[in-house]
Amino acid sequence: MDSRDKTTDSIVVTIEIDELSRSSDLATEYFGGGGDGTGELLVRRFLQLVGASLYAFEDEYPPVQTLKVVVAAFDGVADTSGTKTDKTLRLSASYFTHARHTDLDHELHGVIVHELVHVLQYDGSIDAGATANGGFIEGLADYVRITAGLAPGHWRPESQPPASNDKWDRGYEHTAYFLRWVDRNSPSNTASNTSSTGNVSNTAATFKLNLLLRDLVWDDALFEIVAGAPVNQLWRGYLASFIDAETKAADANVLANDHAVFTADLRSLLSIAESQKDPLFLGRMRASIARPLREYLLLFNSDDEIVRRGYEK
Ligand SMILES: [Zn+2]
Repeated sequence: MDSRDKTTDSIVVTIEIDELSRSSDLATEYFGGGGDGTGELLVRRFLQLVGASLYAFEDEYPPVQTLKVVVAAFDGVADTSGTKTDKTLRLSASYFTHARHTDLDHELHGVIVHELVHVLQYDGSIDAGATANGGFIEGLADYVRITAGLAPGHWRPESQPPASNDKWDRGYEHTAYFLRWVDRNSPSNTASNTSSTGNVSNTAATFKLNLLLRDLVWDDALFEIVAGAPVNQLWRGYLASFIDAETKAADANVLANDHAVFTADLRSLLSIAESQKDPLFLGRMRASIARPLREYLLLFNSDDEIVRRGYEK
């Protein structure tokens, strides 16, 4: 190791391409066949991005020393394994082909970001294995992917409410959206966490929680430390935010619709009224108006007893 900073710059990245994948789109287009440094550059670029998303200070970075990226032929998309210091990231040559993606760059970069979060995130392992909630692990990976602008089109949109039986730790984009909401809305988060564009800095609750998992085993109560409320309460607040938004939107819709109907009815009534007391007048009013007569009478200021009686029946 040399004198480079203890960020991602100190990680030794190597590329390996298995025999069966040599002529794949992934190997030839993105990894330069394996020998010319193209793949290392690609991976290093995203390592820096993910590192900067997760950590604000050098001493927060995990002790990863080596990262081997393997382009291989296997069923699946990608996976990450290894020890605290040595990691292996596999990318599926059969998945990443132009034949399967209209935007291969977008998909590949998105998956690389997701997997590199797994390389650099903490998992609450003190002695033995990881203790971190799996949904949190996957949610954080997609959180960073979303923040990098690399969310795929087939995901549930962030503005759409979760399924009724979802829990906060369903994982992937579902948990990512929740965590983003927590970072923007939890009681202990101040305006300083959120920029004018709504982006959240890496000092926000989710990132504090990741950092706590360096020294602590998982406990749902960690949410209270970083976000000022139990996770179930945060989840209820998140769900309520959709109901509020839906109710407001529905109310606004009803009002706008009512107003449009009201105005149109009124216009046609006025034109009929102007053309004198048409015999059709009463019938038209009865048929076309769902509003109480009183409102119309106020507007008409009618002294026509027939109209009034006919309508108030
Ligand atoms: Zn994952």
